[in-house]
Amino acid sequence: MRLTKQRQVILEQLRMTKSHPTAIEVYDRVREIIPNISLGTVYRNLDVLCRQGTISRIDTCGDQKRFDGTPEDHLHLICSGCGRVQDVESELDINVDNLMNIDSEFTITGVRIEIMGVCPACSTDRKNQAGTN
Ligand SMILES: [Zn+2]
Ligand SMILES: [Zn+2]
Repeated sequence: MRLTKQRQVILEQLRMTKSHPTAIEVYDRVREIIPNISLGTVYRNLDVLCRQGTISRIDTCGDQKRFDGTPEDHLHLICSGCGRVQDVESELDINVDNLMNIDSEFTITGVRIEIMGVCPACSTDRKNQAGTN
């Protein structure tokens, strides 16, 4: 019962933001509602929600894993400089039918594509560094 309530709050907090927060950022938000919750509990519940397919986990290479409460399929832009994650708002035509030809015993249910790039803030940093060197 208590676990279910905690999980509900974690999910609500994750759905309230589009920033794709890390577990620690989720923890900071949830703590404002459930002050005595532990970071371990947040990690465990995020893990369960991921396995249920309710939320998704984004691996940003080296950075901490980030979490996404948006249940619909969508693409991500990931900054290779700071690990920031942004949703791609424009429609992109990806042919999922081709995936059905993959030689595997898996039943293919979907595809996740992550687009790497450099965000405006990081690209400004790079230009400034190039200018001073
Ligand atoms: Zn960046
Ligand atoms: Zn997203």
